[in-house]
Amino acid sequence: MKTSNLGYPRIGAHRELKRACEKYWSGKISLEDLLQTGKRIRKENWTLQQQKGIDLIPSNDFSFYDHVLDTTLMVGAIPDRYKSVQEAGGHPLDLYFAMARGLQKEGLDVTAMEMTKWFDTNYHYIVPEFDKEQDFHLLSTKPIDGFIEAKALGIHTKPVLLGPVTYLLLGKEKEEGFHRISLLPKLLPVYHTLLNKLEEAGATWVQFDEPILSIDLTNEERAAIERTYEEIAEHFPSLKILLASYFGDYGNNLDTVLSLPVCALHLDLKRAPHQLDGILTSGKLNKKTSLSLGVVDGRNVWKNDFENSLRHIQKAASRLDEERVIISPSCSLLHVPNDLDLETNEQVLPKEVKDWMAFAKQKLEELEGLKRLAGTPDFRQAPLYLDNLASMQRRRKSALIHKPKVKQRMEQLGKKDYHRQSPFEKRKILQGQSLKLPLYPTTTIGSFPQTKEVRQARAMFKKGSLNEHDYIEFLKKETAKVISFQDGINIDVPVHGEFERNDMVEYFGEQLEGFAFTQNGWVQSYGSRCVKPPIIYGDVSRPKPMTVFWTSFAQSLTERPVKGMLTGPVTILQWSFVRDDQARFETCNQIALAIRDEVADLEKAGIKIIQVDEPAIREGLPLRKGDWAAYLDWAIKAFKLSSSGVKDTTQIHTHMCYSEFNDIIKNIADMDADVITIECSRSQMELLDAFYEFDYPNDIGPGVYDIHSPRVPSSDEILELLRKAEKVLPSSKLWVNPDCGLKTRGWKETKEALKVMVAAAQQMREAI
Ligand code: GLN
Ligand code: ZN
Repeated sequence: MKTSNLGYPRIGAHRELKRACEKYWSGKISLEDLLQTGKRIRKENWTLQQQKGIDLIPSNDFSFYDHVLDTTLMVGAIPDRYKSVQEAGGHPLDLYFAMARGLQKEGLDVTAMEMTKWFDTNYHYIVPEFDKEQDFHLLSTKPIDGFIEAKALGIHTKPVLLGPVTYLLLGKEKEEGFHRISLLPKLLPVYHTLLNKLEEAGATWVQFDEPILSIDLTNEERAAIERTYEEIAEHFPSLKILLASYFGDYGNNLDTVLSLPVCALHLDLKRAPHQLDGILTSGKLNKKTSLSLGVVDGRNVWKNDFENSLRHIQKAASRLDEERVIISPSCSLLHVPNDLDLETNEQVLPKEVKDWMAFAKQKLEELEGLKRLAGTPDFRQAPLYLDNLASMQRRRKSALIHKPKVKQRMEQLGKKDYHRQSPFEKRKILQGQSLKLPLYPTTTIGSFPQTKEVRQARAMFKKGSLNEHDYIEFLKKETAKVISFQDGINIDVPVHGEFERNDMVEYFGEQLEGFAFTQNGWVQSYGSRCVKPPIIYGDVSRPKPMTVFWTSFAQSLTERPVKGMLTGPVTILQWSFVRDDQARFETCNQIALAIRDEVADLEKAGIKIIQVDEPAIREGLPLRKGDWAAYLDWAIKAFKLSSSGVKDTTQIHTHMCYSEFNDIIKNIADMDADVITIECSRSQMELLDAFYEFDYPNDIGPGVYDIHSPRVPSSDEILELLRKAEKVLPSSKLWVNPDCGLKTRGWKETKEALKVMVAAAQQMREAI
């Protein structure tokens, strides 16, 4: 038996890569310094994995920005607009960063390539762009360089490559008249050249990542997989190819992959434990193929359940030869934080909770431990096994996790808890009478600029150098200023500005029971950007109101109806590490109940409009369309549970950032929010078409200007967008607001832009 790792976090245990990249971009360190930092991280990772006894240690899993962009550079698929950068000379890494981030310097002005989510993770990759006549050639030898670099350290690695089929399918055609998969015959020779060089350098194993195999493929796409790996086997008979897909099962691609002439096939047994039995009993697995059993969760922070993993491992070992069993994480460890040992503050992460967890480094130990136990005849007596068993039992019974009150409340939920009292038409009339808003009511999405002063005050308060009284006074001043500004420019529905919030999920997580936090649990989101997701470990409940103080304070300063601002249950779930001992929908419903209580308390405090943000509903969609309905069903229900316990006169808003609504518009309508605000300006209101075609019944605020840039929109631009909106939706349904929250903006442009927006709404009213 062997252990294998699919990939290790590349940002460094202390986010060294983030710091170095950002310093390099701002000219504070040299290229040489940056390269050295990369080299140090790679060395640390390889050495650590060697020390932990991993047999197949990955290389080329390191990246200065993104592994898909690395592949684009490797195969020379540089879009034409970067010619100027290429011609300007300089290091290839500068071209690489220009593609990732855009470049405005010394006469050069190029935009960045598009970025999007890597499957259903929160990691973002840079989308490859292809022309019809796309040409590929080996432009960068990064995988070979990495292999040689590790070899010089005495570590024999397994280079990891993004497979050609996934690479093509993740990209985009930049012109009409062809499908990118047709480029495969041109791309494969580049991979062959690369494999040749890797073989020359002494590589024996090569890992090909083809996660696209966890999505249903067309016959043509499947044929591309067959062709790729058959050709590689033919040309490189002595290279051992490990083919890896993850984030799901192989679905309708299973028969294809089972018959491939690859040396090992990886299975994600966390997401799809059911796969193993079928494969072992089907007799279809190629006799020479080993199975890489992804038993250690690469997507979550929980300690491995040895009992469960060993059951899989032993089953495979008894059916196949032991030699044909490889023990692995379910996917690359890129998606989990680096090292749990760095969590030393029990106030932040209680010791009892920490005992249930494992980060990347600990997961390496688990892999090695599992291998050792699997090779021990009476492993059930081994201290390592018994310790793990005891920890699992402690977790199962912990009073920190299991709250009978929460469970009882969940059981008592009935149909009526998921619906408003009256249908929208009736609510609309009642709310109209109570709120007395003009046509084209103006509002914002919630946050106002989080200036340096705001962030500094929060940091000082957290450190203890600003006392609570002074911090609150400071926040009150900021809130009062933003209310008076909105009053002054006649925003119809003002907000309190969210100055007290660090992050829209963390702020709530910190006040809810069942959540824990880390000091250093960073995970790469994109490039140098990292996130530190909260950890939901137990039953969720709300010990006391979370937002009533600030919302009421803001309301006390104005006659206009202040909109209360909450984060929805699906978004809180989606942006956290979620407990794995109960179904996600159950955890989501528990959060929904906590938000429902908050909604009720806001209503009691006299708040007439409450927004429950759900920007993450769409990104939570499962990879396979066949699984969408079940997810949407519980996700929409959770939103309704959180928001429907109010009087008819209370107006519920929701907000979603840029997303294609076409295929989920029915579900969006089912949410039954009185008003939905969406990001719309960059698509020139095109996103509204889905609402028009569906005949969406409730009110809509299509964003009228882009908040991602400091640019102040002209009133003509806004008017044009509003007129476009008015063509597809009746004016009685339309709200006027920016695309999203304003927290990343400066005050100057925010003030100007909002004034222009209010004036545009006024003009629209006058034109009626
Ligand atoms: N209310 C949040 C804000 O304005 C919404 C942010 C979001 O949609 N991502 O910041
Ligand atoms: Zn948004």
